[in-house]
Amino acid sequence: MEHEEVKEMEEKEQKLPEVLPILPVRDSVIFPRMVIPLMVRDKEHLKMVDQVLQADRLLVVAMIKDPEATDKQPPEVHRVGTAGVVLKLTKTEEGTIVVVQGVSRVRIEEILSTEPYQVARITPLQDVEHTGKEIEAMMTSTWGLFKEIVDLSPHLPSELVQLSRNVDQPGPLADMIISTLNMERNKKQEILELLDVKERLKKLILFLNEELELQKMGKRIQEQVKKGIDKSQREYYLREQLKAIQKELGIDKEEPPEIQSIKERLEKKALPDAVRQVAEKELERLSKMSPMSPEYTVSRTYLDWILDLPWLESTEDTIDIQHAKKVLDKHHYNLEKVKNRILEYLAVRKLNPEHKGPILCFVGPPGTGKTSLGRAIAEAIGRKFVRISLGGVRDEAEIRGHRRTYVGALPGRIIQGLKKAKSNNPVFMLDEVDKLGMDFRGDPSSALLEVLDPEQNYSFSDHYLELEFDLSKVMFITTANQLDPIPAPLRDRMEILELVGYTEDEKLQIATKFLIPRQISEHGLKRSQVAFRKAALRKIIREYTREAGLRNLEREIGAICRAIAREVAEGKKGRFVVTEKEVEQYLGKPKYTYDMAERTSVPGIAVGLAWTPTGGDILFVEATMMPGEKSLVLTGQLGDVMKESAQAALSYLRSRAHELGIDPDFYKKNDIHIHVPAGAIPKDGPSAGVTMLTALASLLTRKSVKPRLAMTGEVTLRGIVLPVGGIKEKVLAASRSGIKEIILPKDNQKDLDEIPEKIRKQIKFHPVSRMEEVLEIALGLNHKKARTKPSSNKKKRSKS
Ligand code: ADP
Repeated sequence: MEHEEVKEMEEKEQKLPEVLPILPVRDSVIFPRMVIPLMVRDKEHLKMVDQVLQADRLLVVAMIKDPEATDKQPPEVHRVGTAGVVLKLTKTEEGTIVVVQGVSRVRIEEILSTEPYQVARITPLQDVEHTGKEIEAMMTSTWGLFKEIVDLSPHLPSELVQLSRNVDQPGPLADMIISTLNMERNKKQEILELLDVKERLKKLILFLNEELELQKMGKRIQEQVKKGIDKSQREYYLREQLKAIQKELGIDKEEPPEIQSIKERLEKKALPDAVRQVAEKELERLSKMSPMSPEYTVSRTYLDWILDLPWLESTEDTIDIQHAKKVLDKHHYNLEKVKNRILEYLAVRKLNPEHKGPILCFVGPPGTGKTSLGRAIAEAIGRKFVRISLGGVRDEAEIRGHRRTYVGALPGRIIQGLKKAKSNNPVFMLDEVDKLGMDFRGDPSSALLEVLDPEQNYSFSDHYLELEFDLSKVMFITTANQLDPIPAPLRDRMEILELVGYTEDEKLQIATKFLIPRQISEHGLKRSQVAFRKAALRKIIREYTREAGLRNLEREIGAICRAIAREVAEGKKGRFVVTEKEVEQYLGKPKYTYDMAERTSVPGIAVGLAWTPTGGDILFVEATMMPGEKSLVLTGQLGDVMKESAQAALSYLRSRAHELGIDPDFYKKNDIHIHVPAGAIPKDGPSAGVTMLTALASLLTRKSVKPRLAMTGEVTLRGIVLPVGGIKEKVLAASRSGIKEIILPKDNQKDLDEIPEKIRKQIKFHPVSRMEEVLEIALGLNHKKARTKPSSNKKKRSKS
């Protein structure tokens, strides 16, 4: 500020009269040195301003305390105001503008009169000055904040910042800044009333910070809004331009080609009315969307699904039983029982197409022909074939789909299968129904029940489609490895057809008639080029596979064909004959080479038979003994029931030690270890009881078990042998492994009826009811004491 001006101001301050009229204002506060226009409408006040202009031009501007209280006359004003000089007076349509320059803060001591306007006795107020580092620092930050606010605010000219830098006194600086900002009136009044300049600056900094925050927030919001508008406006303009360009070029297509093509597909596609309505609506929605938006893709995919599904497309059935029989025979060796049942099923369908029979369920180990039977059925009646696996499906949504609101949602497996089938009446195979899981995500089996129920499945609703699909024409077939885990309500709807697995001879036949010809042609070879010797095939079956089904056998045959195909491609000519020797050349060392006789030649090892979901297997039980203290160690992933069987076997032997000629104190000085090797397959169930006892007895008597003998059965503490389950599978497994004799519970003898005659002839069966008999057959042991007579209260056990 110029030196002279300051002087003039000071003079005016000193010249202030004691009594001045008051101009009450609603929401402005005027600060010393600041020039401010005030709108005056009140007639009396205008008169007062006129009079003031005639005289010394001085008055006091004071803010009305409560701006709402308009009826209060005269209005009550704050006790601190500003004395000012009227500089100018301009009349406008809305009122008169009075321009006032502040001179000094004043306190209104007393209102002397109120009519026609207020006149008061006043005293001028002086600032309480401060200097020093702190004040300087405060001023610097005030400038900084002020600059930021000015920068952010579009209404404030940037020159203000420079102007403020010219004010080098803290008090006036605060006054200047506060009066330029559009702050709340009470804040301004607060600053006006603060005479201590340090306090005033402090308060100002606080207000500035608040203001800055507000500004920033406002700016953020504005930017967001602006961005939104910009983008959609841009797109709108671009689209309009595109239209104009297209028109100009004569491509007067309103719709993009993609929409066009969907529209054409929709017109051609046969759809139920309800579906068509939904599709058309969706297409309309789609045509209004920007192809860039994620929404567009979702909607587009949904339309694709609707268009790809065979809502009304069916294939024509050709149910000719003779033909069907031919087809089944063409692909499958033997299996007469199953084939006949299938033919009956088809016959019923032919005679009464409306009749919804039970659903066929093929149960059996892998590779026994379940899938290929399904395929053959489809071929026989001229339907499409699809297959989905339910193994590990735990979530209802996998069957029924996810709602479209999820990112990446898809229809469930049923609808996916139908899309693949391209007809609404395929043979639809649901694999591994026994492996359906259930957890918190909902029960997939209940969704499956709905799918399979003819009363409900004409209106199957998928969460993704949100449209009803008619599944009633679909021919469902299910498969499972095991019957037990299938949920009971599902099982009730199904007719079970069992496929137990094949004997070695059957495998040989199937390999010769089906697998080898197929593999030869699949590898691009001619039938005349390749021949497998019988002995070679037997070697593959015995030493390279160990399964109830045919999967690995087919794979090994395939591997040999592949090797031959390569040789042919490399130029080798002539006929390839696969002998036993060649097998090893092509397939490497045998995978299952152990010689059973050799393995069981040591005392302490017995062969058991186990039932597994893949068909049944043989199981070696090994017992050994070492110096120690009476403990029984069990290893090989044994379940609790199996562990208990081992304990029971040990107790039996201890109680009969004398009769069997075993050292009665054997357990006192030794630790006994029973191990059931072969794999990480958890083993459980009581049916290894007989085997464990035999292995222990063999160990303790130092006699080895008869070679090629296997056994199964549960034992009680008293040595009674109880029946067990899965005999059929176990016997088949035994025959595959080259077992010649089997000890089994007497009560299981009836199960042998189901075993193919050929095997029954190959294997010698020993039905037993007591452990003594087992030990006699297996180890040639004779109980010294007369046998206790078999007890009559034998309890019959169900499956183990
Ligand atoms: P699964 O579905 O039970 O696991 P697959 O149907 O896949 O078994 O059968 C495995 C292979 O064995 C297929 O190539 C199949 O054609 C063949 N196969 C199974 N059973 C027979 C049979 N009885 N006659 C001929 N080939 C068979």
